[in-house]
Amino acid sequence: MRKVTVRRFVINREDIQCSNCQEFGHHYFRCSAKEPVCRFCGSAHRTSDHSCTECPKKGTKCGHLTPFCHNCKENGHIASDNKCPIKKTQLTMARAQRKLQSTEKQTITPAAETPTQNNNHDEQMEVDTHTQNE
Ligand SMILES: [Zn+2]
Ligand SMILES: [Zn+2]
Ligand SMILES: [Zn+2]
Ligand SMILES: [Zn+2]
Repeated sequence: MRKVTVRRFVINREDIQCSNCQEFGHHYFRCSAKEPVCRFCGSAHRTSDHSCTECPKKGTKCGHLTPFCHNCKENGHIASDNKCPIKKTQLTMARAQRKLQSTEKQTITPAAETPTQNNNHDEQMEVDTHTQNE
């Protein structure tokens, strides 16, 4: 008899940041936001369309940028900055949740187990144009 390993995929990881609306917990391809949000300035344009008014740089941070975080609605850092308090909270929550899930797995009864196998969108993918003007 073959041994079957059931692997549970966590679909909505709280530490995934949407590259379209900059919010946490979903991928850009699951994003339901009507308008994109710029990661750098929080305005309603794609991060790759972000342009500077002072210099010809586009889709990248430059020295003229006044960063605005869409998630905590504050100036001073961009939406993916590690010092963002919202991001910190999300990462802490995600870690706690994962811990919870791993303990759940050990105590759960087979009847209550509902494996979700149809989704492996577990990897964070970036579509931002980081490589421009390098
Ligand atoms: Zn989104
Ligand atoms: Zn922008
Ligand atoms: Zn500039
Ligand atoms: Zn923030």
